[in-house]
Amino acid sequence: MTTSGAAPVPAPAPAREESAYATALAQFDAVAERLRLDSSMRAVMRQPRRELTVNFPVRMDDGSTRVFTGHRVQHSTARGPAKGGIRYHPAVNLDEVKALAMWMTWKCAVVNLPYGGAKGGVEVNPKALSEGELERLTRRYASEIGIIIGPEKDVPAPDMGTDARVMAWIMDTYSMNKGYVVPGVVTGKPIAVGGTRGRVEATGRGLLYTVQEACRTQEMALEGATVAVQGFGNVGSNAARLLAAQGAKLVAVSDVTGGIYNPNGFDWDALQRIREQGAFFNQVSGGFEHITNEELLELKVDVLLPAALENQLHSGNADRIRPKMIVEGANGPTTPEADAILFGNGVFVVPDILANAGGVIVSYFEWVQDLQSFFWEEDEVNLRLKRIMTRSFEEVQALAVSESVTMREAAYMLAIRREEEALRYRGVFP
Ligand code: GLU
Repeated sequence: MTTSGAAPVPAPAPAREESAYATALAQFDAVAERLRLDSSMRAVMRQPRRELTVNFPVRMDDGSTRVFTGHRVQHSTARGPAKGGIRYHPAVNLDEVKALAMWMTWKCAVVNLPYGGAKGGVEVNPKALSEGELERLTRRYASEIGIIIGPEKDVPAPDMGTDARVMAWIMDTYSMNKGYVVPGVVTGKPIAVGGTRGRVEATGRGLLYTVQEACRTQEMALEGATVAVQGFGNVGSNAARLLAAQGAKLVAVSDVTGGIYNPNGFDWDALQRIREQGAFFNQVSGGFEHITNEELLELKVDVLLPAALENQLHSGNADRIRPKMIVEGANGPTTPEADAILFGNGVFVVPDILANAGGVIVSYFEWVQDLQSFFWEEDEVNLRLKRIMTRSFEEVQALAVSESVTMREAAYMLAIRREEEALRYRGVFP
C-alpha cells in the first residue's frame, strides 16, 4: 500500500471525452426502437430509479480534513434487489455511475440473475491514500449510502479501485450500524467473512469461457491464438492468466502507463517476474517492446480484450482496430460509432454485459451462500459459472443469428425484453 507521501500515480483518463451515459442511452434507444417498446416503458427504463450523491469529510493522516464526493445509483429494482460494484477512481462522476448502473441492469438480465442494476463510485485515487485514509473514507462512504443499501435492497461489490478488503470494511460498517452481522450486504468479501470461493478470478474466468464459446462459433482454435489485453487489474490479469493456461499466446498486456509487446508471446511465469521489477509496465525492461495503450488496441491479433476504462474504442481509432474478435472485459469500452465501424470491418464483438458477467454471477452465488449460511466448494462455483456463461452466450448468439443483429444488439434485446416483462407484470404503483 502506498502512503500519501509516495510519488503520485498517474490518473488514467478515457481516450475520448464522451459521456458514458450518452453511450448507454444510445445503445438502449436503438434496441428499444427495434423492439418497438412503447414510449412509457422507454421513459421508465431510460432513467435511474434512484440517484444518491454524498459529500463527506475524511480525516487525513496529516491531521487535515478533506471532503470527498461519492455516488450510489440504482437504475432498476424491477427483477430483484439492485446489484453492482463500487468504483474508486479520480474520473468517477454521476454521469458515469448512471451509465454503469444501467449496464448492470442489462448485465443481470442477460444472464438471468434475479437482480436489478446499480453502481457506486467515489472520486478518489485510492493509490494516493494510506491504508488508514482508505479505511476511513470507505467506512464513511458506506455509512452515507447505508440508507439505501442492504441485502434485500441493493448489494454492492468490488469494481475498479476497490477489492475484498474494502468490501470487508463496508460489511463491518453496515453491520456495526445495524448492531448485528449482515454478510449479504456486499459481495466480493474475503472468504473469512462470508465471501465465496472463486469470486476474485470470476470475471476473468467468465471471460475465458466467453472466449472459448466465441472461438467455437468463429471456428478458431484458442490454442496458439494471439491475445492482447488492455488493463492489468483484477479482470485483465486473471483473464490473461487463464487464457495463457489454455494455450493462448499472450503477445501484449498494458496498464495505465502503457504496455509491453512480444510477438513470440509472454510466458506467464516470465510475465510475473517482469511485473516484480516495478509497479507499472513503464518501469520494466527486457526482451520486449514498450507500446502505448493506443498501439496495443491496434495490434494485429486474434483476440483483443479491452479490460480498462470506457470509450477506448471510438470513431477516431475503430477503423484501425482489426482483431478477429473483441471480448469486452471492461464496461462500455466501445462507443456506438466504433461498434458500427467494427461491424462493418467484420470484427466479432462480444459485448461487456455478456462477456464480463462472470463477476456478478459469482457475486450472486456469494449472496445466496450468505443468505443460507451454507458455503460451496470452488469446483461447484466454477461449474455453475460455466453453465450460466455458456447458456447465456448460446441464447445471445442464437438471437443474433435469427434476428440478423450484432451480439451487442442481441444481448440488449434479450435483457430489455426480460426487464420489460418484469415491469409489465409488476405494473405501476399505486
Ligand atoms: N463490478 C462488477 C461488474 O461491473 C461486478 C458487480 C457485482 O459483482 O455486483 O460487473
